[in-house]
Amino acid sequence: MDRPLTTLLDDVKNGHRLTGDEALQLFRTRDRQVWAIAAAADEVREQRAGDAVTYVRNQNINVTNLCVNACGFCGFSKKPGDEGIYFHDRAAIQAKAAQAHERGVSEICTVSGLHPDFTAQSYIDVYRWIREAAPGVHLHAGNPMEVAYAAHKSHMRTVEVLDAMKAAGLGSMCGTAAEILVDDVRHTICREKIKTKEWVRIITEAHGLGIKTTATIMYGHCESDADRVAHLSILRDIQDETQGFSEFVPLSFIHMNTPLFRQGNARAGATGREDLLMVAVARLFLDNFKNIQVSWVKEGIKMAQLGLIAGGNDLGGTMFEESISKGAGAMNTDYLDPAEMERVAEDLGRTLRRRTTLYELL
Ligand code: SF4
Repeated sequence: MDRPLTTLLDDVKNGHRLTGDEALQLFRTRDRQVWAIAAAADEVREQRAGDAVTYVRNQNINVTNLCVNACGFCGFSKKPGDEGIYFHDRAAIQAKAAQAHERGVSEICTVSGLHPDFTAQSYIDVYRWIREAAPGVHLHAGNPMEVAYAAHKSHMRTVEVLDAMKAAGLGSMCGTAAEILVDDVRHTICREKIKTKEWVRIITEAHGLGIKTTATIMYGHCESDADRVAHLSILRDIQDETQGFSEFVPLSFIHMNTPLFRQGNARAGATGREDLLMVAVARLFLDNFKNIQVSWVKEGIKMAQLGLIAGGNDLGGTMFEESISKGAGAMNTDYLDPAEMERVAEDLGRTLRRRTTLYELL
């Protein structure tokens, strides 16, 4: 029988490590007890991460939207012959990087489609070009899928690709391409993507080389509560082993322009209850993570603000350019002014603090 919720939450606040079954019980809560879970997560956030609401001044550079894969949740990628394909060359990438530098960003992110002609050298070139045009800016780029693709195309081991990327200036890697780390679900939503085991291996290799990564989940499509718990358990186990995750970033599925939704294989995104519980349960379950981000890009600033009193301590980046979520139909993807972040933080009686990618306060 389930433990009474108040007892369970008190135990967690006193250091009990949630089991998978207990996390499942929390995810299944549907009534006003959602607020009790959020309140407990907020207390744990206060103990573990303090009261500051952090953000990073960053810019995305999407190199190309041409992609050999066709993930069902992706409204961003294009196939040869489609309208609206772009592929930025060195001059364009360096112009964007120089512009980011002038804007005073401390982080540039690159994530792109898997271009049919890309090899490991293509990623290395892009990283070098950006470092050249924006010296001193932290490069947060790549993900396990891109590393696997580069390794496959260049007949290298993934650890060699990571090593070469680090030498080219990679500062930290995105923990995206995780989606849901359950192969049955991956088969439905992104069957050409690397399997769970490979994602875990590449992330662990990156941590072993001293490359920190984020950890993500994409939820609100066709996964079950049990799949979410399985996913969080994998992340917690990796963190126990490596301490290489800098933060956890829940990404709420944007369904509008995606094949997965149009073909009836996904629901229309997470509900508000699910968005709140994802942050709160993650805060309570991931007892070895200090930082939990709420994504204003995916959820909108009002829902993101509620996430900050449900376990979240970070608002992510200013995002001067964002095409991935916009492609899928998100409405909130352009730049978010730190003044608006400040308004939202101060409305909660908290202070907004600028941070680096790896969470040093500026
Ligand atoms: S999610 Fe990434 S790998 Fe999948 S289709 Fe979109 S761009 Fe390609």
